[in-house]
Amino acid sequence: MRKKIVAGNWKMNLLLDEAEKLNKSIDDAVNQNSFGCEVYNFVPSIYLKSIVDNSKNIHIGAQNGHPEKVGAFTGEISMNQLSAIGSKAVLIGHSERRQLFNESEAFLKEKVNAAIEEDIKVFFCCGESLEQRESGKYIEVVISQLKNSLFHLPVEDFQKTVIAYEPIWAIGTGKTASPEQANAMHKAIREAISKVYSPAIAESTSILYGGSCNPANAKTLLSQSDIDGGLIGGASLKTEDFLTIISTYK
Ligand code: PEP
Repeated sequence: MRKKIVAGNWKMNLLLDEAEKLNKSIDDAVNQNSFGCEVYNFVPSIYLKSIVDNSKNIHIGAQNGHPEKVGAFTGEISMNQLSAIGSKAVLIGHSERRQLFNESEAFLKEKVNAAIEEDIKVFFCCGESLEQRESGKYIEVVISQLKNSLFHLPVEDFQKTVIAYEPIWAIGTGKTASPEQANAMHKAIREAISKVYSPAIAESTSILYGGSCNPANAKTLLSQSDIDGGLIGGASLKTEDFLTIISTYK
């Protein structure tokens, strides 16, 4: 059975007291319920240490990490700095980093390698733009993102990664991929994993959907055969909404 995962991506939101309150309410709820999924929160780096130290039932990850271990990279945080404070997961390849911060596929590959070296779980994001979807080439686009930054990993390292399919046109827009569209892409990703690694590895890889997933649509989206959970932006900022999504896997 593939692991089900629901992960919140807080992006650049919340002040410290709000962040701690939200995280505690999720951590407590996960403690009190037997949800059938693992729960992650990807929090702003400035809060990582305090939130890692106060989380017992959920996993806390970073939204970014630099591939170099040390050096003159003002404003950056290395993967080994993340690891040293106990943050054992990282988002890599989010479309906001690709588009707004011009992160190239080669750079993402270096980040993947650095995270793996520090034993940090990689949540690798991929997804096509609206233009690419409308061109009909969206499957090729997404598979090539995976080939260029993730599929170089040896199987034992690839097995430690999670993939998040996030169509760019659905992120923060209120438009979701239909369950059929999302599931078809997840199947295509699984087929690609099967070819590069093996059918058994493809069967055991968790592939999450992200893009305007909310309490109203989570059940349908997250119960598709090839969707193993969600990466949730806006709806992870409200306790009730995030818990409703998590409860999909009760
Ligand atoms: C995200 O940024 O990863 C995301 C899925 O955002 P939203 O849920 O707000 O579309």
